[in-house]
Amino acid sequence: MACAPGSVPGPLNMPRRKAPRSGSRAARLTPRFLSVNPMAIITGASRGIGRGIARRLAMEGWDLVLNYARNEAAARDAAEECRHEARQMGREVRVEVFGADIAEGSQRESLVRFAKTTFAACQLLVNNAGVAPVVRADILDAGEDSFDRLISTNLKGPYFLTQQVARWMLEIAGPEKPPATKVVARIVFVSSISAYTASVNRGDYCVSKAGVAMLCKLFAARLAEHGIHVFEVRPGVIATDMTGPVKEKYDRLIADGLTPIRRWGSAEDVGKAVAAIAQGFLPFSTGEVINVDGGFHLRTL
Ligand code: NAD
Repeated sequence: MACAPGSVPGPLNMPRRKAPRSGSRAARLTPRFLSVNPMAIITGASRGIGRGIARRLAMEGWDLVLNYARNEAAARDAAEECRHEARQMGREVRVEVFGADIAEGSQRESLVRFAKTTFAACQLLVNNAGVAPVVRADILDAGEDSFDRLISTNLKGPYFLTQQVARWMLEIAGPEKPPATKVVARIVFVSSISAYTASVNRGDYCVSKAGVAMLCKLFAARLAEHGIHVFEVRPGVIATDMTGPVKEKYDRLIADGLTPIRRWGSAEDVGKAVAAIAQGFLPFSTGEVINVDGGFHLRTL
C-alpha cells in the first residue's frame, strides 16, 4: 500500500519536501500554500477509530487536521503519535488539532475556517465522529433527548460539515470540470452495520447511521462530475471505548459465530480501509459501501 519513496499518495503527485514541525516557529511562518502533502480533516480523531484512521494516513504521508470534541490532551497525544508514525516511515507530516463540536453549526464553521487558514487545500474529509446512546432503551420507551443528540452528532454534523468542505474543495478545483479520469478529492462517511441492522434497544443510533448511508449516496451523486468521490466505510464490531461497556456480550457473540471472521475488528482495520480509498485504489467507484465487519453482512444458509 505504501507509495514509492519521493512521491505522495492521493491526488497530489508532487515531489516531497520536508514539512515544518507543527506548532514550531517555522510552521507558524510557513505560508499555507507551501504545504506539499495532501491534507485530510478527520472528525473525532483523538481516540478510537478516528485515531486509527489518522495514524494510518500519517504513515502514508498525509497532513492532518485532527478534530476533537473535548479532550485536547488526547488529541495532542494522537497528533504526536501520527508524527512519530510518519517519521518511522521516513515521512514528515504536519498535524494540527482543533476542538469543535460537530453538532454545532458555529463550531463546524470554525473548524473549516481553521483548516482553510492553515492549509491550501483539503483532499480528504473523514466524517468519523459519532456517539452511541448513553442508555440503550427499548424503542417503545426511548426518549427524544437521546434521539436529538444522536441525530445532531451522527447525521446533521456530517451533513453540513460535508456541505462546507465540499464547497471548499470545489473552490480549489475551480469552475472547470476536470476530466472524468481525474479525482480532485475524496469524502468518507464512517457509518455502521447499524445502518441496516435493526437493534430495537438503540433505534436512535440505527436511524442516524441509516441516514449517513443516504448522505454518502447523495454527495456521491452530486459531486462525481467535479472529480470528488464519496465512500461509506461501514465498520462492524470494533474494539474501542464505544464498545467497552458491551465487551463481554460481544466476546460471547463473536465466539458463537456472529462474524465469519471470528475476531473483534480494530481501529487499524478501519484505518487501512480509509487509506485504500485515500490512496486512490478505487478510482472508478463512488457512493460505494466498504464493509469492515469481518463478514457480518453475509447471509449464510
Ligand atoms: P469512540 O467513542 O471511541 O470515538 C468517537 C470520537 O468521536 C471521540 O473522540 C469523541 O470525542 C468524538 N465525538 C463525539 N461527538 C463529537 C462531536 N459532537 N464533535 C466532535 N467529536 C465528537 O467511538 P469509535 O468506536 O471510535 O467510533 C467512531 C465512529 O465509528 C463513530 O461514528 C461510530 O458510530 C462508528 N462505529 C463504531 C463501531 C464500533 O464498534 N466501535 C462500529 C460501527 C461504527
